[in-house]
Amino acid sequence: AAPAADMYPRKILEYMEGFLISKTVFTSCELGVFDVLLAAERPLSAEEISQAVGASVDGTQRLLGACTGLQLLNTQWDDGQAFYSNTEQSRVFLTRSSPLSLYQSIQYSSRTIYLCWHYLTDAVRSGRNQYEKAFGVSSKDLFQALYRSDEEMVKFMHLMNSIWNICGKDVVTALDLTPFEVVCDLGGCSGALAKQCTLAYPKCTVTIFDLPKVVRVSREHFVSAADQRIGFCEGDFFKDSLPAADLFILARILHDWTDERCIELLCRIYKACKPGGGVLLVEALLNEDGSGPLTAQLYSLNMLVQTEGRERTGAQYAALLASSGFTNIQHRLTGKIYDAVLGHKET
Ligand code: SAM
Repeated sequence: AAPAADMYPRKILEYMEGFLISKTVFTSCELGVFDVLLAAERPLSAEEISQAVGASVDGTQRLLGACTGLQLLNTQWDDGQAFYSNTEQSRVFLTRSSPLSLYQSIQYSSRTIYLCWHYLTDAVRSGRNQYEKAFGVSSKDLFQALYRSDEEMVKFMHLMNSIWNICGKDVVTALDLTPFEVVCDLGGCSGALAKQCTLAYPKCTVTIFDLPKVVRVSREHFVSAADQRIGFCEGDFFKDSLPAADLFILARILHDWTDERCIELLCRIYKACKPGGGVLLVEALLNEDGSGPLTAQLYSLNMLVQTEGRERTGAQYAALLASSGFTNIQHRLTGKIYDAVLGHKET
């Protein structure tokens, strides 16, 4: 049938150009536009901002215009000249110094994820991650590729850290974890979720278990020594013995691995888990009928480009847990990016 004369491919055009929006946000953060406006404590002209960030006036003017269109900046006019200030969201989430800053995540998206996605077609064709093409490193050992330098590892840790300031409380309170006092966060990384756990459950202690070099950086730069309810354990969760615990947390761990590796890890956890204990999976759950959420669908493509794993549905996680011995499996959606699945070891 002939298309209606008034048919306009609004969505398709929006998707075609979606990367222009990402790059505008990446560049504005990288240049420090939002930080300059925060420090100034008054609206600034394009000339003032261009000087402060060390960029051309013309380029800065266009960037500020785009940020205004994206509702990341407010504009007020005085005597025919535009003056810019941060919106509330930009001040809270895009400035470097804010406790809820997404700056480091944006940097990682810009410098690493964006480069991997350049090879999405190759990833879909081959069904494999794209480290070799994007960064010239072997992807035989996933975390050796991800942590190809200390600098990359720290950047990754910042990426992992920032989201739990925003969604961490929701995932640790989605199901009642009060009965579990001795908690081990496997692959606990920078400890951001461990902190949310100790805040939500005053009686629990959390051991962050991670690769030795991650633990060292986490201990030195992310977790305060004053935080006496958080401890550390160095090791490889596929090889070394796991600490005894009432609850093991696996946040964004299983999505890195194939079903076979997930079951291998879950079986090891089942053995280490105290009777009556459990395992909490924190992941972005796909709907059972494949209809969404879009974020989880896109994350699953991201897992293809970057890891050996995938995002899964609640039923798929339940099947992995059941084949590793766990019973009474429940899941809860939080309405934000990450959800919770809890499995139990019988007494
Ligand atoms: N759980 C954290 C979160 O959600 O913010 C981090 C998730 S990150 C995707 C995966 C974590 O698993 C990293 O901290 C990584 O160092 C750790 N990891 C990967 N392989 C590991 C292994 N074999 N043994 C222990 N930790 C490992």
